[in-house]
Amino acid sequence: MVSKLPDTGTTIFTVMTELANRHGAINLSQGFPDIPTPPKLIELVSHYMQSGLNQYAPMPGVLQLREKIAEKVNELYHAKVDAQNEVTITAGGTQAIYTVITTLIQLGDEVILFAPAYDCYAPAIMVNGGKPIYVSLKAPDFAIDWEEVRGMVSTKTKLIIINTPHNPTGMVMAREDMLQLQALIDGKEIYVLSDEVYEHMVFDGQRHESVLRYPELAAQSFVVSSFGKTYHNTGWKIGYCIAPAKLMAEFRKVHQYLVFSVNHPMQRALADFMELREPYLQLSAFYQAKRDYFIDLLSPSRFRILKPKGTYFVLLEYSQLSEKSDTDFAIQLTQEIGVASIPISVFYPDNFDQKILRFCFAKQEDTLMKAAERLCKI
Ligand code: GLN
Repeated sequence: MVSKLPDTGTTIFTVMTELANRHGAINLSQGFPDIPTPPKLIELVSHYMQSGLNQYAPMPGVLQLREKIAEKVNELYHAKVDAQNEVTITAGGTQAIYTVITTLIQLGDEVILFAPAYDCYAPAIMVNGGKPIYVSLKAPDFAIDWEEVRGMVSTKTKLIIINTPHNPTGMVMAREDMLQLQALIDGKEIYVLSDEVYEHMVFDGQRHESVLRYPELAAQSFVVSSFGKTYHNTGWKIGYCIAPAKLMAEFRKVHQYLVFSVNHPMQRALADFMELREPYLQLSAFYQAKRDYFIDLLSPSRFRILKPKGTYFVLLEYSQLSEKSDTDFAIQLTQEIGVASIPISVFYPDNFDQKILRFCFAKQEDTLMKAAERLCKI
C-alpha cells in the first residue's frame, strides 16, 4: 500500500507514555491531569445514563450544551454566537481540528502554522493534499514575527493555524498579535483555525486573547476548545468548534460522516455542570499555583526554566546537563531517573533541537515533588 503519510510515525504522546509505563517512571510527558474529575460531574453523567439517555445525541451536539457554550463565550469574550448554527460538539479538540482542516483544504492548498506545532495539525493537512508551511518560533519567548508570516503568505494560502495558550511552549498571544493576524487576512480568502483548548489557563493577570474577541477575525475563523483540560477528564474526549453559520454548515457536512455525534449522557452532564462558573474561572489561579510550586522546587536544579504564561506545561532547557539530543535525553531521563517528558524538537519540521523538554505540571503536589526531587539530583 502506498502510505498517505510516509513520514509520520506514532505520536510522541503515545511513545513517551508507553516508555514511562514500561519503566515505572513519573509520567510528565503526555499532558493529562492526575487531579480527579469533579464528583458532581460524574454523578450527572451517571444520572443521565440511568435515566436512559443512551442513544444518539443530535448530530451537532446537545442543544443545552451548545447554549451554555454560547453564553460562556458571550460573557467572557463578548462574542455573539448562535448556539443553533454556530456551535458543534466534537469528540475532543483533535477531531474538531481534523474536521476543520478537512472542510477547508483542497489539493495544493497551503497552511501556515507555527512551529513548535502541536502534532495533529500537519498530518491532517497532508492527508487532505495540503502543504504545511512553517514559521519557526524560538526560545526563550517564542514570539511571532508578523513580518515573517506576511512573507509566507502566497496565493495558495488557505488557512493559518494558531494556538493560544500555546502547546508546548506556554506562550500566549497578545492583543497586538491578534490585530496583526486580523490585518493579515483582511480582504483575503484565508481562514484561521484557532486552537484554544488551554483558554482557561492563562497566568500573571493576563487575559486570554480569544479570536472570538475580534469580530472581524472571528468572521473568518474556526475556534476549537475542549472540556477535558478544563474539567480534568481528558479521557472523555469531548470538545467543540465555533464558527460563523456559513462555515459551520460546511464543517457539519464533514462532521456528520466522521463521527455523526458525540457521547450523549456526557454532553447533558456537561451542560448542567456549566451552570457553575467557578470551575473554569478559577482554573488559571489553580494552575498558576501549580506552576509556581513546581518551578520553585526546580530552582536548585541545573535546568534553565522557561516560565510559561499559560497551559499546564513548563519547558526546561538542559544544555548545562547533557550534549544529547532532546529525544535521547528524554529517553534517558525516563529510563534512568524515572521522569518522562516530551522533547520539543518533534514539533519542528526539521527537528530543530534547542535542548528543551516539556513537562506537564497538571499533577498533585506529591507527584510534582517526587519528580522535582529526581530532576534536582542530576
Ligand atoms: N494534548 C496532549 C499533550 O499535548 C496530548 C493528547 C494526546 O495524547 N493525543 O500532551
